[in-house]
Amino acid sequence: MKKVPVSLIIDDPAPIISVYYEHAGTDKTRDGRPLVPTYSNDLFFRFCDVAEKRGLRGKFSVVPMPGNKGDIVRGLQGVDPADLQAWLDGVKTRLMPAFSVGPEMLTHHKAVDLSTGAALPMNERDWASTQDRATLIPYIEKAFSLLREAGFSTCGVTSPWDFGIEVEEEYEKSISLAAKNICGTDEAWFFLRALRDRPNAKPWVALEEDGRTLVSIPATLRDEFWPTIDTERCDEDFIFERADRLITADGKSGSVLQVLESGGYPILITHWQSLMSNGLGTGIRILDEVSRRINEHLSDRVEWKSFEEILRMVCANKQDYPKPNFS
Ligand SMILES: [Zn+2]
Repeated sequence: MKKVPVSLIIDDPAPIISVYYEHAGTDKTRDGRPLVPTYSNDLFFRFCDVAEKRGLRGKFSVVPMPGNKGDIVRGLQGVDPADLQAWLDGVKTRLMPAFSVGPEMLTHHKAVDLSTGAALPMNERDWASTQDRATLIPYIEKAFSLLREAGFSTCGVTSPWDFGIEVEEEYEKSISLAAKNICGTDEAWFFLRALRDRPNAKPWVALEEDGRTLVSIPATLRDEFWPTIDTERCDEDFIFERADRLITADGKSGSVLQVLESGGYPILITHWQSLMSNGLGTGIRILDEVSRRINEHLSDRVEWKSFEEILRMVCANKQDYPKPNFS
């Protein structure tokens, strides 16, 4: 039997700075503890340990101007330059190329005035909703440029929140052109939409134009790690209960199995804050257990793939990946 791709989306990572703290709109967890503004490199390295041990592949965002606090090339407010460099080096040496790295636009917080670098009064999602290619292309080019200056090769972007969904066609053209202009690539990927509770959930060809192709890679599962932000629970019962939602210990049920059985590709999603779990790292332990179960029970049916590998796969057989109907 031909194996299908399994992949892991990780949204919102940035060096040390928690973009979730910046945009959450609260400074408390739901169970009343202070929300932590930063995550240590120790937790980052614990995530790298799991990713390497389990052979995970997927997509890892690097937010280039996290929380409007400077940028990953020139430095971040309140972040020791040695810690910033250690984080960037860790992504390059321990996560890439298993994880395709891409920007999650500039700040995942307030939109940026590109001429001054200053924060605009609205967040990036609200800003994007009224833009077109004239402003989206330079914005995405800036995001790609910062990642390339920091030494990353990249050919895809993640949408902070649902950035661009109101102007999706303009957004798609803009990503494809910005990738061509800055990264020199005709083939690019992006993550905006989720396809959940739908049969046959797979990536699709979002745009073909002048020899360029843009592939949309959706999440097909839910972030079952998120509730770890709002609880101190880190006992085995809690970890197993969260993991069971994706795949049970016997490998026989859970949403990963449902996606597979409906003909789709299991594309898991989590967020950096869901793995960091307000400093407790509980989400990393759940991820370790989920991926252990996937590898133990499904290795004859699925194969871990990075977003760039999925992109190549789709571009090699475009007719098999039509755009789903969203109306
Ligand atoms: Zn995000």
